[in-house]
Amino acid sequence: ANKPKVVILGAGYAGMMTTKRLTQKFGTEEVEITLVNKHNYHYQTTWLHEVAAGTIEPNRSRIMISDVIDTKRVNLVHDTVVEIKKDEQRVVLENDELEYDYLVIALGFEKATFGIPGMEENAFSIESFDKSRLICEHIEYQFSRYKNEEGNDHLLTIVVGGAGFTGIEFVGELAERVPELCKKYDIDKRNVRIINIEAAPSILPGFDEELADYARKSLEFRDVEFKLGTMIKECKADRVIVGDDEEEIKTGTIVWTGGVQANSIVGNSGFELTKGRVTVDSDLRAPGHENIFILGDCSWVMDEENGRPYPPTAQLAMQEADTCANNIAALLYGGQLEDFVFDHKGTVASLGGKHAMGTVFDDKKLYGVTAKAMKNVIDDRYLFLLGGPRLVLRKGKFRPF
Ligand code: FAD
Ligand code: NAD
Repeated sequence: ANKPKVVILGAGYAGMMTTKRLTQKFGTEEVEITLVNKHNYHYQTTWLHEVAAGTIEPNRSRIMISDVIDTKRVNLVHDTVVEIKKDEQRVVLENDELEYDYLVIALGFEKATFGIPGMEENAFSIESFDKSRLICEHIEYQFSRYKNEEGNDHLLTIVVGGAGFTGIEFVGELAERVPELCKKYDIDKRNVRIINIEAAPSILPGFDEELADYARKSLEFRDVEFKLGTMIKECKADRVIVGDDEEEIKTGTIVWTGGVQANSIVGNSGFELTKGRVTVDSDLRAPGHENIFILGDCSWVMDEENGRPYPPTAQLAMQEADTCANNIAALLYGGQLEDFVFDHKGTVASLGGKHAMGTVFDDKKLYGVTAKAMKNVIDDRYLFLLGGPRLVLRKGKFRPF
């Protein structure tokens, strides 16, 4: 009855893998593990651009949590976290309250709109399974309206704000999806515009220039338009206002991929934020809190080599889960907590269909179908870690395209 209580908030990459590791480390009698999530399913955030564009069957990107987590070992709580009362070691949920001895906060990201007027209200974002599915339905609805409404050319214009990895992967999927929609709704493809607007002078700022250039050309070849060095200033229901000359672009769909930050519950619960996230100690604990770990997109972990935080990715979140589980064991049984060390395996981005590019193993560059095959291997590796070969067979992407 006095088993220590470990509560994990959020069943994304960080939360799922931490739970999995804890069940591997501890016997039923040793700790009580509780995993809280908004939905009874886990979704693959890294596939949401495909859900949003409609290039994947949505259900393929989600997994029932109880299919991969042993419910005899873990209490699955299907509820929404409202607040973390860290001084009382309690978590307030929409329908309940939980006490914890050790807390793992893995509530993921939400969009950051940097106060751009109208962005919050008028733009879609690739933030969750539901919101991504909504984008897909919305775009299709614009296409179906087109032939029924006079003078509505802008319905076929899709504006994507921000050319980071999310924006680029999304326009790549759109480039594949648009020809299908044109066929379905008898629309001339020349009437459709996919416009990706980026404030920086190039797409994928900070990434390898040669690969970014390759991605831009591949996308332009498939009719994606880029407006680079162009800041989105304002967003209205049917247009965006961009650049110093305040150009107006009329559109039927605006998708904001201009930035993300920690789930706002973290800041609202009194954790100190730097640029939207908590900078955690090297053992992944929240500064000043011995029993609270903050993982994944809710935190920054410093790369001691260059004094900058690692960019938050699924790859990072999963590796953090291992360290977190080890450190919870060290706290319970004594022993030294370990520092997190990131093993960067590379960055590969899909560009739609059989197109992709990226770096693997010490910056070896990959292009085209080779990169796409690698991307599929990365996706399948995660499924394997989570649910073994059975899950790979059910949901995997083992074919190159
Ligand atoms: P998430 O995966 O966001 O999970 C958070 C979980 O918490 C969700 O299940 C959510 O339902 C739940 N939750 C949220 N709020 C509550 C609440 N109040 N109560 C209860 N539960 C809640 N990274 C890569 O490494 N490689 C990639 O190829 C890649 N591709 C990407 C493609 C896209 C389109 C996007 C958007 C991101 C991509 N990323 C990629 C980044 C990566 O997805 C994130 O870094 C990663 O999802 C972070 O994992 P997480 O566990 O912190 O959060
Ligand atoms: P991001 O912050 O990396 O990119 C946002 C982009 O929007 C930036 O290029 C920024 O200059 C631009 N921007 C911001 N404000 C703007 C404005 N007002 N007008 C025009 N452009 C504006 O965000 P993201 O792409 O969502 O990526 C988030 C994280 O997820 C990153 O760490 C990324 O590496 C990771 N991710 C990885 C992959 C992958 O590995 N394949 C895919 C998707 C996301």
